[in-house]
Amino acid sequence: MASRAPAIVILGPGSLATARRIQQRYPDALIHGLAGRVDGVDSQYHEFGATLRELYQQDTPIIALCAAGIVIRTLAPLLLEKGVEPPVLAVAEDGSAVVPLLGGLGGVNVMAREIATALQVAPAITTSGELRFGTCLLNPPSGYSLGDLEQGKRFVSDLLAGESVRIEGTAPWLDQAQLPQDEQARLAIRIDSAAGTPVKDELRIYPRNVVVAVPAGAPVSIDGALGEAGLAVQSLACLLAVDSDMARPELHAAASALNVPLRFAAASDDVAQWLSDTLDQPASVRRVGDYVIAVTEQPLDAQQIGRPRGRLAVIGLGPGAAELMVPAVRAELERATDVLGYETYVRMAGPFRSDQVQHCTDNREEMQRARHAFELAAQGRSVVVVSSGDPGVFAMAAAVLEALHESTDAHWHKVDLQILPGVSASLATAAQAGAPLGHDFCVMSLSDNLKPWSIIEKRLDLAAEADLALAFYNPISRSRPWQLGRALEIVAQHRTPATPVVLGRDIGRPGQTLRVTTLGQLTPEQVDMRTMVLIGSSTTCVFPRAEGGDWVYTPRWYGSKPL
Ligand code: SAH
Repeated sequence: MASRAPAIVILGPGSLATARRIQQRYPDALIHGLAGRVDGVDSQYHEFGATLRELYQQDTPIIALCAAGIVIRTLAPLLLEKGVEPPVLAVAEDGSAVVPLLGGLGGVNVMAREIATALQVAPAITTSGELRFGTCLLNPPSGYSLGDLEQGKRFVSDLLAGESVRIEGTAPWLDQAQLPQDEQARLAIRIDSAAGTPVKDELRIYPRNVVVAVPAGAPVSIDGALGEAGLAVQSLACLLAVDSDMARPELHAAASALNVPLRFAAASDDVAQWLSDTLDQPASVRRVGDYVIAVTEQPLDAQQIGRPRGRLAVIGLGPGAAELMVPAVRAELERATDVLGYETYVRMAGPFRSDQVQHCTDNREEMQRARHAFELAAQGRSVVVVSSGDPGVFAMAAAVLEALHESTDAHWHKVDLQILPGVSASLATAAQAGAPLGHDFCVMSLSDNLKPWSIIEKRLDLAAEADLALAFYNPISRSRPWQLGRALEIVAQHRTPATPVVLGRDIGRPGQTLRVTTLGQLTPEQVDMRTMVLIGSSTTCVFPRAEGGDWVYTPRWYGSKPL
């Protein structure tokens, strides 16, 4: 998988010039600036600590333009928990110093050199092996994997203690390293894809030059096949399967257990020929049991073999504030190749890298957007459809499923479809007011665009009669001016004028407002299409809060208070 674009994090305008020079070296990197302090950045954050920790937990390489100590202190609570970590660097705001801090195995020293070159300074590399040999033996370039990290560490300290080493196999990057090479050395670095138990004194590096092709419907037992072929599992670059097997769970389980990509191509009768044709270099191909295995000279780039299973995720952004977006959604946006949605929401989901395609549409073209999303995903792309709040609440998830249900296109049905939840406006509003939905409640959209008004009236009447707290989405709009007034009349037939009402407008967004009023005082003019209306039940209470304003809650019990 391609490594993630780094995040350049700055605290003030004094760092912007240096940040931009670094961004020239990593054009996909986004500059994150503290809101209110720096303008003209790609993304604004409110809390430095929370932002840095979130980036770290998402494995995003971090280039922080501030004191190394600040970065260390901020990430310290997370350091013990983690085995692998992203590169983390501190860079002096004037660009005079580049300090790699964490992520030695993630290539932090490589980044330090790249940034230092861009800034025309010397990087503060402190890794002994790297200083002595000019490369990190334990971090082979992409296309190769290290056999055993612990053994590797011992190996490097032996070399640092003065031992020499033999190189067996081809490792172009080691030719440039200043290793103490000697044909007679006791220690050896061996680069090949053969299986076998590790030998003391030998550091194994495996080229990822093996592909296992799994014919349609074949049982999936890859380890066994590799063993039979005498090949190390670590040399596997990817599994290749046929398009018709794209949704087979066993294949996905096997690939994820082996931690290799699963790629697909259209089937053919001659599997060996099919496999050779799919590769971009000559390979020795042989049949092993049900499978065909190819071994190439050079390591393979799995991204160039066949195509991936397409993915379509319908995500919920939450009400707007970044802190209220679930981490799974953030990760999905990160991996997206294409982002579809109503322009306002797509903008809210950003910023995006230059390689991510944004498809903005009008809010009303929902079915068309859903079909477009499947067309893209069926080509193997990683598509995100954006909704605000939760995608399953009056939003895109149902439209996407409807499009799939109506479709007979097998490619659409094989797409990896995921629905990722978000904090819905009713819940975000309720949380700010206290707990008005703390007992049974009913969620309704007052829009009669897609359902007859008569059914809305009936449901309102029954829900109000049942004494459910009510949450109204889409309460009013220019094309639906009278409906809210009518809805309130129906509710008023079952509730007293003193019934608490919460109005949340643009909750979690800039300029948000929260009002607590009563059913008797509520008029449609106080509400617009960016408002969430919550109406209490007969038990909903209001009391003043110390900061000013009110708390609203609906007790968990009903009838009489339990003892
Ligand atoms: N899927 C969304 C709802 C879409 S319907 C969700 O789960 O939140 C659109 C309606 O949601 C708006 O008319 C408004 O009533 C409400 N809404 C959406 N975001 C809101 C916000 N940030 N503050 C208040 N109401 C909001």
